[in-house]
Amino acid sequence: MAKVSFIGLGIMGSGMVGNLVKAGHEVTVWNRTASKYAEIEKAGAKTVADPSQLLLGADFLMYCLADDAAVDAIFLKGPSLASKVEKETIVIDLSTIDPETSAVERKIYEDRGIAFLDAPVFGTKGEARDGGLWIVIGGPKDIFEKSRSVLEPISETLHYMGEGGNGTKMKLVGNLLVASQIVSIGEALSLAKKAGLNLKTVLEVAAVADFKTPIYAGVGAGVIKGDYEVNFPLKLMLKDAKLIQAFASRLDSPVSIAVTTEELAKEGVDAGMGELNASAIVKVISNRAGVDLSE
Ligand code: NAP
Repeated sequence: MAKVSFIGLGIMGSGMVGNLVKAGHEVTVWNRTASKYAEIEKAGAKTVADPSQLLLGADFLMYCLADDAAVDAIFLKGPSLASKVEKETIVIDLSTIDPETSAVERKIYEDRGIAFLDAPVFGTKGEARDGGLWIVIGGPKDIFEKSRSVLEPISETLHYMGEGGNGTKMKLVGNLLVASQIVSIGEALSLAKKAGLNLKTVLEVAAVADFKTPIYAGVGAGVIKGDYEVNFPLKLMLKDAKLIQAFASRLDSPVSIAVTTEELAKEGVDAGMGELNASAIVKVISNRAGVDLSE
């Protein structure tokens, strides 16, 4: 079993840590907000007061942080952990960040001879809790193989995408598809409601026809119950919509869905819905349409 150091006890990180402990790894955790430690300590993880204490003798250093600013604050600036990790440690960044930030951290590690994988994840709170994430990985193939012992306990499938950076790129490609489905179910349900259709019946059709998706089913069911409890916070969807646009503009590729998603997500965040689920985008759309989708 491995000595795993982990940073970030958010919605996703807490589930991952629980499954790493269950798999028998010796897991030590740091989180900016220490009040989140109680549950994870009960599960069997150790905690430390300072992230630098995680560096000694770790086989793996894994982190799942909110955004580029968080990775920057801990790994590139502040305690600057990227320049202090021990040579034998394999570093795995599970956060959704800009491929350019990922390239900066990868260079710092690789210049010091430290192995690094960018390994962002698909799935949300339930998949993180149940060890059922779908992980997309960039970096050296042999390091990916050596990391299976810590990636398998948190995932249902692992997808090796090739060279360093390809994990973060795939994550943004996938989140473009997620965004498009949240926006389209929001517009479709608002239109259906205005047209006088029964939304439960609309969702029954959407659950079987050739446009069915788990996102239409999950978001649709929540929306008609008026349930926007957070799995993937709207504020992080706003971050991702911006990341997708920056990534696509460097490649001169059109992403009109990401432009629309940013506008809708920003309106929701500005209206105080940033901590709600990303499906609150549907609420923004239905508010604009002047309909209430809860039934
Ligand atoms: P979250 O619940 O908001 O947790 C974010 C984590 O980052 C917390 O541990 C937070 O610490 C930490 N953090 C934020 N800013 C920081 C800073 N400046 N310095 C130090 N720590 C900081 O987010 P999450 O939902 O777990 O998401 C984590 C990552 O996974 C994100 O990149 C997200 O896009 C991605 N992701 C999320 C989902 C999802 O469904 N939630 C799905 C796939 C991918 P505190 O506890 O102190 O705030």
